[in-house]
Amino acid sequence: MNSDKADCDPMIPVSAEAGSAVDVAHAQHAAHAGAPLEKVALETYVPPAKPSLIGLSRAEISDRLGAIGVAPAQRKMRVQQLWHWIYVRGARGFEEMSSISKEMRAELDKHFTVARPEVVAEQISNDGTRKWLLRLPSGDSVEKAHEVECVYIPETDRGTLCVSSQVGCTLNCSFCHTGTQRLVRNLTAGEIVGQIMVARDRLNDWADRETPNGNRLVTNVVMMGMGEPLYNFEAVRDALLIAADNEGIGISRRRITLSTSGVVPKIVRTGDEIGVMLAISLHAVRDELRNELVPLNRKYPIAELLQACRDYPGSSNARRITFEYVMLKGVNDSLDDAKLLVKMLKGIPAKINLIPFNPWPGTRYECSDWDQIEKFSEYIFNAGYSSPVRTPRGRDILAACGQLKSETEKLSVRERQALRAMAMTD
Ligand code: SAH
Ligand code: SF4
Repeated sequence: MNSDKADCDPMIPVSAEAGSAVDVAHAQHAAHAGAPLEKVALETYVPPAKPSLIGLSRAEISDRLGAIGVAPAQRKMRVQQLWHWIYVRGARGFEEMSSISKEMRAELDKHFTVARPEVVAEQISNDGTRKWLLRLPSGDSVEKAHEVECVYIPETDRGTLCVSSQVGCTLNCSFCHTGTQRLVRNLTAGEIVGQIMVARDRLNDWADRETPNGNRLVTNVVMMGMGEPLYNFEAVRDALLIAADNEGIGISRRRITLSTSGVVPKIVRTGDEIGVMLAISLHAVRDELRNELVPLNRKYPIAELLQACRDYPGSSNARRITFEYVMLKGVNDSLDDAKLLVKMLKGIPAKINLIPFNPWPGTRYECSDWDQIEKFSEYIFNAGYSSPVRTPRGRDILAACGQLKSETEKLSVRERQALRAMAMTD
C-alpha cells in the first residue's frame, strides 16, 4: 500500500465535465483495451502430506475419519468434538483436545494437523489496528512461498477483519494495484477461514479467553483483501459458511460482507448459497467508463449487474447492498456522475461508500480533490443515502482497500479509515 503522493504518476487532468473525462480516460486506456478480461491461475494448490482439517465441512471431516478407520457409529460424535475444539476453542494441536481419548488424539495427529497460515510478521498501530503478513505454501517448491495480508480494524462497537481470497487477482481493474499483479492461485477454504483463526489466535479471541463480558474482538468480516472472491466461489463459500456456523466461529451472516467487481452469474449463488451481505465495486455509472476501470464490465455490463442486485436474495432495507465507488479525479467524480448514480440505484436497497483513491507507484490516476468528494457525497446524502464519508478530515480521510500486498509496512490513517468505511454493515 502506498499513499505517498510523490510516488504516483497522475496523468489524468482535472475535469468537471463527465464527457471529456471519459474521453481522456478512454484514450489513456486504449492500449489496455485488448487486454484479456481474466487471468489464469499459474498454480493449483498442492496439499501437504499431512493436511489440515481446517476448512473442511463436517461431512468432509467425517469422510477423512472414515479413511483412517474411525468406525461409522463414532464419526458423528468425533466430528462434533473436533468442530468444537477447532472452531470454538481455537485448539492449535490435537493434544489440547482433552475430551478426546489419548489414543484417538495420537491417531489424528499421525494423519492430520489443525494448521493455519503461518504468521510471518505482525504490525500493531497506535489505535490497535493490526496487520498480519501470512505465508502460504507455493505449489512449486522452487518458487518462494506466497504471502497475503489480513487486517484487523478495532472500533468501539465492532472489530472488522479484512480477508483475502486469492494470491493476486483474476481480474485487472485499471485503478487497482492487485489487478496489475499476476494471479498466482486461489486460496483454499482452509486458508480463507484460517485468516479469521489467525486473527483470533493473535488477539486471544477464542471462547476461553478471559474477558469481563465475553465479548468477541473479531465481530465482522469483509472479503475485501486481495482477489476477486467470486472467481474462487466454492472455497469462499465453504470458508464463509464455517465462519457463520453458530456452533463454531459464529459470526452472523449480517456481519460478513463479500465485495465483488460484478461476477453476475455468481451473485445470485452468493445470496442463495452463502447468504452474506453484498458489496458491489461499481466505480462508474456509464458502461464506456466502467469498461475501462473494471474491464469485467465488458462481459457483465452495468444493467445486468444492477438486475442481479435487484434479484439478490434476502436484500431489503435492513439488509442493503453496498455500492463502492472509488473517487478518481476528473474521471468519475462529477456531479453528473453522482446524479446518474442516485438515479440508477433507485429501487435497490442500497448504501454507497465513496472510497478516495489510494495511489500506487505507476498508476495513471489521482484521488479526487477533497471538496469534490464532499460535493459528491453531499449530493448523495441529500438524495437519501447515508453519508458515506464519515469523518471529514480532508485529503487524508480515506484510502484503499484492495491494495493489500506483501509488504510489511504500517497501515496509514487513510488506509485504516477506508477499511473502516467499507466495513460499515449496519
Ligand atoms: N475484488 C473485490 C474485492 C477486493 S477489492 C472487488 O473488487 O470488489 C476491495 C475494494 O477496494 C474494491 O471496491 C476495489 O475496487 C477497491 N480498490 C482497489 N484498489 C483501490 C485503490 N487503489 N484505491 C481505492 N480503492 C481501491
Ligand atoms: Fe481484483 Fe478487486 Fe482489484 Fe479488480 S478491484 S483487480 S477485482 S482485487
